[in-house]
Amino acid sequence: MSRMLVIPFFIPFGGCETICVFCDQPRITGILGAPSSAEIKAQIELYLGTWKGRGRKEAAFYGGTFTAMKKTEQVRCLAPVEDFLRRGLIDGIRVSTRPDCISEEIAGFLVSHGVDTVELGVQSMNNTVLALSNRGHSAADTVAAVGHLKSAGLAVGLQFMPGLPGDNESTVLDTVREIIGLEPDFVRVYPTVVMKNTALETLFREGKYEPWTMEEMVRLCGEISLLFRDAGIRIIRMGLQHTAELEQSIVAGPYHPAFRDLVSKESAAAAARSGGRGEIMV
Ligand code: SF4
Repeated sequence: MSRMLVIPFFIPFGGCETICVFCDQPRITGILGAPSSAEIKAQIELYLGTWKGRGRKEAAFYGGTFTAMKKTEQVRCLAPVEDFLRRGLIDGIRVSTRPDCISEEIAGFLVSHGVDTVELGVQSMNNTVLALSNRGHSAADTVAAVGHLKSAGLAVGLQFMPGLPGDNESTVLDTVREIIGLEPDFVRVYPTVVMKNTALETLFREGKYEPWTMEEMVRLCGEISLLFRDAGIRIIRMGLQHTAELEQSIVAGPYHPAFRDLVSKESAAAAARSGGRGEIMV
């Protein structure tokens, strides 16, 4: 067995100054509050104690804006992990953050604390869509952030969300092409769904946001998969990770616990019908 081990830590809304219209991190992750240093150390030991594989082992901080947290808080989270890194017990650290919270100085800080992979929540490369989603950053921020991260030697993953307010097929495919132009190491695709207690739920109930149908989203994600495949960019996730808390929170939209399988089946069927571009494994 040589699969990769990811030891996840969630920091719901950590560093987030504004809340994006679609976001309810505690329900997505099922976790409330950031872990303490002792909890981080104990969780790493627990995962390493049961891991029998030989692949890469990394700690990953998800669920907030890591680099917008106070520096002391970032160091508090990273220090216990760095100790395992120094002893050769894990191979790397991954953090997720927003494009407007990366600079040359911040990229250097991350490298100096053992971080080797950064995931950016890009969500869209269309500035109107970003504004309607209350993201608080622009597409230009994403371009600049990817440049800083790559210059510092960090691996870069980009997350985006087809189906946000203001999106249509054309804005989504333009976003995909711009992301491909940034040459990330991998991407995650999270189709937009309406969650309870979010601003998007209010927009939905007021008739100001119409979620995409499952059929529309599966078909478009098949197209997206082809574009990334042809560009040689890995999609490491397509669709929200299933949890019991998440399922209870879904109000509307194209959520399915096996969304990735639906896209693979649809694209295989489409390829068979056209006799052309081949099966897509997303
Ligand atoms: S930046 Fe990320 S974690 Fe923070 S509110 Fe937006 S989507 Fe949620």
